[in-house]
Amino acid sequence: MITSKTSFIGLIGNPVTHSLSPIMQNAALKYLGLDWIYIAIPCKDEDLKLIINSLKKINCIGLNITIPYKQKVFELCEEISPIANKLKAINTLKLNSKREWEATNTDVEGFIYPLKSLNISKRQGVVLGSGGAARSAIQGLINLNFSKITVISRNKNSLNNLLNNFAKDKQIRGLLNSDLKISNLIEETDLIVNTTPVGMKTEFNQEKLIPYGKSFWKSLNSKTIIYDLIYNPTPTPLLELSEQKGCQTIDGTQMLIAQGAKSLSFWTNGLEVPFEIMQDALRKYL
Ligand code: NAP
Repeated sequence: MITSKTSFIGLIGNPVTHSLSPIMQNAALKYLGLDWIYIAIPCKDEDLKLIINSLKKINCIGLNITIPYKQKVFELCEEISPIANKLKAINTLKLNSKREWEATNTDVEGFIYPLKSLNISKRQGVVLGSGGAARSAIQGLINLNFSKITVISRNKNSLNNLLNNFAKDKQIRGLLNSDLKISNLIEETDLIVNTTPVGMKTEFNQEKLIPYGKSFWKSLNSKTIIYDLIYNPTPTPLLELSEQKGCQTIDGTQMLIAQGAKSLSFWTNGLEVPFEIMQDALRKYL
């Protein structure tokens, strides 16, 4: 029951109406018996500073930050974790003892979660896309000890920015999606991660699209694992094609829940979070 003592956690972004976080987080909060609720807070660019600063003054426990503010909140936080600093992206805030924002990023742990049980290390990985989620995926593959990571992008500028960000990590290289080496790479690699939004269901796009088009995937074969970060629809057109070719596939649902579970653990200072409860809530909702 929501009472006059109830506190809240907010999701700040624009747009936020598509988010599944309130569904899984409220199920977990109820299970844990915490007198907190989780709500989505749409926020315009020009209001970001005012809103983030104002939330420090009221009964807000913490925040998730999503598109397009993962970088913009840096200047509003007092403490920033090394991983958020390295990726130049923040997705979780909580109030410290001085009631200032302490920030971190739980996307890397979320990304790794479904890969842990596969026991893959010293392998080759390919990451498609060079936006925010690509950075978490690359850091995740570094943490899993991948020996070679290739980022494929259509965008030279963001690809170069991303490669600069990981300049110290020697096993990473970038290719444009028109590069002739790609066919061999797709044939040989152990894991391909799609971090582009291609294949995602939106109100504007109901077409069955595959990243970089069908011919890009001609040499794909059953030894490669395909991990698509998209969680709606499941399976995506890319995962359907990969299943037809006999590949093991992973969708974005586990990452979504695992990054949310890590955020909840951060807000509760390490409480054990009920992953299955969050998963069940999402399954029922979807
Ligand atoms: P982002 O920062 O906008 O990056 C998207 C990347 O995809 C950019 O490199 C972009 O290139 C590229 N791209 C966009 N449209 C493309 C197209 N038609 N063909 C080829 N490349 C294209 O977005 P993000 O935050 O990284 O998110 C990307 C996806 O990951 C979204 O679908 C999101 O839902 C998903 N995601 C899932 C989770 C999870 O928990 N499962 C977590 C984070 C993200 P340009 O710069 O040229 O546009």
